[in-house]
Amino acid sequence: MSVCEMGVRQVAAGVREKEFSAQEVFDECLHRALAHENKVSALITMTADTGRDQAAKVDERIARGEDPGPLAGVPVILKDNMCTHGIRTTAGSRVLGRWAPPYNATVWRLLSSAGAVLFGKANMDEFAMGNTTGSSAFGPTANPWDVTRVPGGSSGGSAAGVAAGYTPFALGSDTGGSIRQPASYCGVHGLKPTYGLVSRYGLIAYGSSLDQIGPFTRGVEDMALIMRIIARHDPKDSTSVAKNIDFSLPLGDKDETVNLKGKRVALVKEFQGFTLDPPIADAMRRTVHLMEEAGAEMTEVSLPVVARYAVACYYAIAASEAHTNLARFDGVRYGLEVTTASGLKEMFEEVRSKGFGPEVKSRIIAGTCLTEPVRSEEYYVAATRVRTLIAAEFQKAFEGVDAILQPVTPSLPGKIGETDEDAMKGYESDLYTLPVNMAGLPGLSFRVGYTSAGLPVGLQLVGPRWSDKKLLNIGFELEKALGSPQTAFAPVAFKGGN
Ligand code: GLN
Repeated sequence: MSVCEMGVRQVAAGVREKEFSAQEVFDECLHRALAHENKVSALITMTADTGRDQAAKVDERIARGEDPGPLAGVPVILKDNMCTHGIRTTAGSRVLGRWAPPYNATVWRLLSSAGAVLFGKANMDEFAMGNTTGSSAFGPTANPWDVTRVPGGSSGGSAAGVAAGYTPFALGSDTGGSIRQPASYCGVHGLKPTYGLVSRYGLIAYGSSLDQIGPFTRGVEDMALIMRIIARHDPKDSTSVAKNIDFSLPLGDKDETVNLKGKRVALVKEFQGFTLDPPIADAMRRTVHLMEEAGAEMTEVSLPVVARYAVACYYAIAASEAHTNLARFDGVRYGLEVTTASGLKEMFEEVRSKGFGPEVKSRIIAGTCLTEPVRSEEYYVAATRVRTLIAAEFQKAFEGVDAILQPVTPSLPGKIGETDEDAMKGYESDLYTLPVNMAGLPGLSFRVGYTSAGLPVGLQLVGPRWSDKKLLNIGFELEKALGSPQTAFAPVAFKGGN
């Protein structure tokens, strides 16, 4: 079996037990990526030299009899909005095209001290705004299952990299669905943790009250392992919460029977009437049936405010926070260096008009308008009030309910180019993901199966705050029946050596 098909724990165990070296793992993954990157374009930066050096260090530690950590030699892809010391970090934008951060994001510090090795920085929608990865200044990423289709977004490069078998896991960020939606489009699992569980220090901010970092994997237990490493309180992030969730393994009984006895799982009443692509509707029906068979008690909850107002309210809040967060890209603090500007105002103008793409500009303008003193009461402040209602509505729904089962998206991935044209349709398709961020909840996007045309289908489990582990427990049981996600490409012959 190629290491590219292996999960996180299998790779780490193989390296620790000297079945193969960290450098061999890295080279094989590099070989796989080089064979497919011309079609997929998952990465903005491939960190071959840095990664190989890190892999060599892991091997040296093993040779000295030291323990390099639970992620010994496991290659990882980070979304390109997570700061990596000395390595270009662009947020998918021209404005940061040459920026190399002077520090590491906390998540990368934690992963590397657990033995992980940096494989590359993933393509993404510019500043994480979008759901196709098509708004990246570096061109679009393709879905490995059908390269004419989008991988989803904004963390499309991270999801595509794991689906294509470049690495067994990746990190993305999720402000309104950007981990869960590309996970489902690319047929891998993706977790948006409870807000505050994973440090945002070193994550280039989009909507600070909504942003959360989380993992993509091809197995639920791998996800728990990654969470055990990155879910740490961080004094450098004032919204980080000291909450000890026990992510230790196993997540359930190892036997094959799917056991959901004692779990109460709800469907959302208001979502029932909404149209879904037939394979997604079918996946919902089959998963409900599977859960019932496994002993779960299925019930219904009502979320009328979510169904009606969440989309408008999210985009008002996200744009308002984005316009504040992006003010620093002015050519002085951060951003392009321009030499032709005749004064400060001209410089700001030039940096922003050349540096930002159309989607980012439109959101900055929207955010500026929505927060202007004369209007903010009517828009921004009103949206934050609705947000409180949404959080309360979820809290009530979760009384006596362990999780909600719902779609991730109403439709399967569209063709590259087409999906970008109708922005409003794109915004509305986020209905199933963004309420979760508004209420700070955890959401697990898990792969259910494939359509007859070979496109992956995923669904979502949403739980109350801090129920991340419980969602993984349910996901683990479901995975027994559904199998774990596969990579999209058959292994490429690899001879080894340089
Ligand atoms: N599609 C949503 C947006 O554009 C969500 C993006 C995200 O989660 N980063 O805002």
